[in-house]
Amino acid sequence: MKTKFIFVTGGVLSSLGKGLAAASLGALLQTRGLSVTIQKLDPYINVDPGTMNPFQHGEVFVTDDGAETDLDLGHYERYLDVPMSRKNNTTSGAIYNQVIAKERRGDYLGATVQVIPHITDEIKKTVLSLAEGEDAPDVAIIEIGGTVGDIEGLPFLEAIRQLRSDLGRDNCLNIHLTLVPYLRCAGEHKTKPTQHSVKELLSIGIQPDIILCRCEQSIPQEMRRKIALFCNVDQDAVFSSVDVDNIYEVPLKFYEEGFDQKVAIMLRLPARNAHLENWEKLVHDCANPQGKVTIAIVGKYVDLKEAYKSLHEALIHGGVANRVAVELRYVNSENVDERNAATLFKGCNGILVPGGFGYRGVEGKIAAIRHARENLVPFFGICLGMQCAVIEFARHVAGLDDANSEEFNPLSDHKVIYLMTEWFDFRTKNVEKRNAASDKGGTMRLGAYPCKILSGTKAHEAYQKALIEERHRHRYEFNNAFKESLAQKGMVFSGTAPDDSLVEIMELPDHPWFLGCQFHPEFKSRPMQAHPLFREFIRAAKQHATS
Ligand code: GLN
Repeated sequence: MKTKFIFVTGGVLSSLGKGLAAASLGALLQTRGLSVTIQKLDPYINVDPGTMNPFQHGEVFVTDDGAETDLDLGHYERYLDVPMSRKNNTTSGAIYNQVIAKERRGDYLGATVQVIPHITDEIKKTVLSLAEGEDAPDVAIIEIGGTVGDIEGLPFLEAIRQLRSDLGRDNCLNIHLTLVPYLRCAGEHKTKPTQHSVKELLSIGIQPDIILCRCEQSIPQEMRRKIALFCNVDQDAVFSSVDVDNIYEVPLKFYEEGFDQKVAIMLRLPARNAHLENWEKLVHDCANPQGKVTIAIVGKYVDLKEAYKSLHEALIHGGVANRVAVELRYVNSENVDERNAATLFKGCNGILVPGGFGYRGVEGKIAAIRHARENLVPFFGICLGMQCAVIEFARHVAGLDDANSEEFNPLSDHKVIYLMTEWFDFRTKNVEKRNAASDKGGTMRLGAYPCKILSGTKAHEAYQKALIEERHRHRYEFNNAFKESLAQKGMVFSGTAPDDSLVEIMELPDHPWFLGCQFHPEFKSRPMQAHPLFREFIRAAKQHATS
């Protein structure tokens, strides 16, 4: 097996940025010419995060193959620019599901099924699956969710402990990310939490090779020596992960610390120089914008920014591509109505309505869209945002007063957005999924679908392509029964399924930028290559700001 494994655990507390650290290390190894993948192991019991409330868990990231995954996979894709798949995220729930299914089939031949070895073996299988096949990566980074000491994380830790002896010392590396707080009154860094956390790891048989210390400011040498001594790691294996203003600085900071160099030496990876020009340019461009645009995000989850993680990043990428800083103004859609829209959106150069579920706040989104359409403010609607744009147009331009989505008013006479059961047959590979989908997880159109782009439209101007692929996550669709009447009033359907069965993009030509898409373009935006729709949306906002 050529793949080397790096396991990343977290200590002391959550939210230390393990995902970003894993992604940044991955990016650095890539700049050394190595192929890298990252896998997230989540200790919770949900089979996937698809059914979890975004308020609690943040965004659900969707992969090309239709997996609903942890938002850290978004970081992995953005930093590595490698598509993630179902393989890159698993949970305790999914592992137990597999083991129980096997037990029911009789695969264990009468054995007592136990956490060790059956659950741990299943975890090991999932991890090792990354190293299979011809295109197996040089390095697989495995991020273990949660914090060391959590009861539910134990089987995962036991599995990685075993993997180290299975695969050999030269092929595995354990990195432990901890918090080293700086006590202002004492004027020094405190290492005790780190010592406790490492002790916890040692008690289950894992000796970390590298300690990565999350801290406000770089940790002085003598402190590093102290941590090395107490935690039993090499003197030069203690690194700082300092707070940064811009998350894309993390790879550069790690490089300055010599973090990737140490990893490469310990894993005996071929010695090659890192090429960081792209990252340096990105950070430089972020820090030196030539203007500013203000974008309003009108949604329901405005109190938890994590719920719009990829969206937030994609807008920043659009800003980098246009050399402007993007200031985001989160507006709670429940507070918007026709009367206050002008005041609420004063000074905004663009209005974006993101995806969402359920009726709450929908009328506010429609009011915001009306404001954007009538006042020629650039508008971008994503998934539910596109559906709301269609409803708004049907109501106020086509005169269908009760136009609505079947999701919000199943009794409406004008269900311009509806539940289309036939879509399942649209791509044969999904037929199986439909038959298996008897409950809430599994009834959505998920993953990548092709979309044909009409030339001479804003969508075509952005993509410069006749055929694209974008990722979906929704149940409802545009109702083709209204296609002709809305087209007569000026709506252009610039993106459709190749056989015309589904509307994927709509736009209004006599507006600086008014475009809605049924898919989620934010999942495919990259810091060094903004998604074309975000790039063009911010370009329009920039024009709005300067006009
Ligand atoms: N609730 C809508 C649907 O299910 C939109 C979903 C979304 O925005 N992701 O079709």
